[in-house]
Amino acid sequence: MTILVTGGAGFIGSALIRHLLTYTNHHVVNVDKLTYAANLASLESVCSSERYHFRQVDICDKQALEQTFKEFNPHGVIHLAAESHVDNSILSSTEFIQTNIVGTHTLLEVSRSYYEANNRDDFVFLHVSTDEVYGDLAVDAHPFTENSNYQPSSPYSASKASSDHLVRAWIRTYGFPGKITNCSNNYGPYQFPEKLIPVTIKRALEGKPIKVYGQGLQIRDWLFVEDHARALLEVFERGAMGETYNIGGSNEIRNIDLVMTLCASLQQALERFPQVEVKQKSGFEQLINFVKDRPGHDLRYAIDHRKITRELGWAPAETFATGLDKTVEWYVNNLHFFAS
Ligand code: NAD
Repeated sequence: MTILVTGGAGFIGSALIRHLLTYTNHHVVNVDKLTYAANLASLESVCSSERYHFRQVDICDKQALEQTFKEFNPHGVIHLAAESHVDNSILSSTEFIQTNIVGTHTLLEVSRSYYEANNRDDFVFLHVSTDEVYGDLAVDAHPFTENSNYQPSSPYSASKASSDHLVRAWIRTYGFPGKITNCSNNYGPYQFPEKLIPVTIKRALEGKPIKVYGQGLQIRDWLFVEDHARALLEVFERGAMGETYNIGGSNEIRNIDLVMTLCASLQQALERFPQVEVKQKSGFEQLINFVKDRPGHDLRYAIDHRKITRELGWAPAETFATGLDKTVEWYVNNLHFFAS
């Protein structure tokens, strides 16, 4: 099978491609514009495979997409390409509207023409989305299910919600073979150091202030990125057509507790690897600096992932403790990543 993955040079896309090339026989076509968030080094371990192909293409570019579909005849698409950082979307939303909405629409239309013209009954389009589309969740409320209302709070989550609506409308109106996943916060190796976990590690090791929004009371659910990659493949291959699956780690934690845990894990990792040269090796908690809260900041996201567990037998393999230690160890041993 040939799978066209968009955004495959990003954090989750690259984990998915490493997973596909390591554990399956599928061919992969990575379609990525290579924005600031892309990192081709994350694919170094698999890019020499004859089953891996890369095309630098913007998903808003209809012609280039059509050319890529014609060249590779994919059996399906796993769509991850997006602008993904909430803070950036607050500063300037234009790229978010362009890639996440216009780009998804362009990709949907190219995929639909290709699927209809070629009578590809086996075609699957998996749209990868976020739990942030569901908006703010009260502390005592039941976690989001696939039937929760959409109430996005930020330009990022609004643009992702729009793209989910487009995919759902294409399924309903055109009988398009789409599926959607909504996942909680991911963590793991190769995450761009603008996101909470890698930026905290980077700044701690540099001895710089660690920024925590408000009082750090926001609650998020965290999933190890390789568990997400496994879930995406399960849904792509075996998920019911037209369905949505929520994916989560059953790991709810407040941001401040996460940062404290991270500081402790970092100190322990540096004790295990004393040869690693960094500016600061301990006392990271003292670097924590509470700053003005992000506008529109949702207090809580949480995911009820019973549907994917019941129907497809997927469950996270990594606990937060094991996943976080693995992640911290990876960054400590790959400090050059922060410089790239
Ligand atoms: P990322 O920012 O690390 O990577 C995004 C990738 O998309 C980059 O390689 C970038 O070059 C590419 N891209 C951006 N605009 C493009 C365009 N116009 N055309 C082609 N490629 C383009 O993002 P990520 O964290 O890996 O997230 C991947 C997907 O998963 C996103 O759709 C995101 O909304 C979703 N998601 C992320 C998380 C998370 O915690 N990171 C959680 C749930 C869902």
